[in-house]
Amino acid sequence: MFESLRTTFSGVARKITEKEIGADDVDGVMAELDIALLEADVAVDVIDSIKSEIRAALAGSSVKRGEVGPFVRTGLIRAVSDAFEAAGTVDLIGRIESKRGSGSPFVIVFVGINGTGKTTTLAKVAHMLSAAKISVAVAASDTFRAGAIEQLRAHTDALGVKIVAQNYGSDPAAVARDAVLYSRSHGVDCVLVDTAGRMQTNRNLMDQISKITSVVKPDITIFVGDSLAGNDTTSQAREFDQKVGVDAAILTKADGGGGGGAALSIVKITSAPILYTGTGQSYGDLVRFDAGAFVESMFATAAQEQGA
Ligand code: GDP
Repeated sequence: MFESLRTTFSGVARKITEKEIGADDVDGVMAELDIALLEADVAVDVIDSIKSEIRAALAGSSVKRGEVGPFVRTGLIRAVSDAFEAAGTVDLIGRIESKRGSGSPFVIVFVGINGTGKTTTLAKVAHMLSAAKISVAVAASDTFRAGAIEQLRAHTDALGVKIVAQNYGSDPAAVARDAVLYSRSHGVDCVLVDTAGRMQTNRNLMDQISKITSVVKPDITIFVGDSLAGNDTTSQAREFDQKVGVDAAILTKADGGGGGGAALSIVKITSAPILYTGTGQSYGDLVRFDAGAFVESMFATAAQEQGA
């Protein structure tokens, strides 16, 4: 998973270490870092912010000529770790369980554009929650895209989960509210709200999602992004975060060997943690994202080489 980002980081870290650069070479190393991060699909402003963090750390310290390289490397690792740490984490199942008995279901709104795997991911989450003995209802609030309701129904049928749906063209916020009311009266623990996913720049789409969130007041809004789509995924996350607020993210298609830069960019830009990664097309293909292991694996090759 995220092989190319790992290769990139270990390559940069190794070059930095091997070159034993002096202070004058910092700019050169930074330029190298720039290219490597761009190749790993890390967003440009995220790269700039990582570089200025490293520069700031370098400016305040006295580093011997031969130690600048390792110092920059450590700064890079720290900047990446800090970004994941600052985003924190969310214990989804724990939070749903702690709302049990409150009389209201825990509401999760899924946002993201079409084709990223949003519907499949919602079904995977429904499957995971059912396995944890959490009862689930799904709101078919994508009333725009032809086939969206049937697609969702095929999943809920397969999973044996309740779906609340109206007709195409009906108000998505009303569908979501219906699902919440149904869950209240039937003691359902959690409502998963599917939403329409046209381009994130579509104002009407954003207005619709804002209306859903103001009507049902979700406990959490999860952005679903395609880990293969690199910078596109990052700009989608930014737009959704600015317009409706993103609390957490799930990256799909991590089995496809994407750049992995999207994971770093999303946490840095939205300050929201990555909760899970999708690793295939089956309901069970949802893996909890371990930020510590992710950062460690990014630099693992470099550390091994250094130790060798
Ligand atoms: P939506 O338009 O965003 O709702 O996307 P869908 O849920 O319909 O998914 C689009 C395609 O991506 C489908 O063929 C899914 O099976 C596939 N897909 C979704 N998540 C993953 C994943 O984690 N790995 C792989 N390999 N395929 C996925």
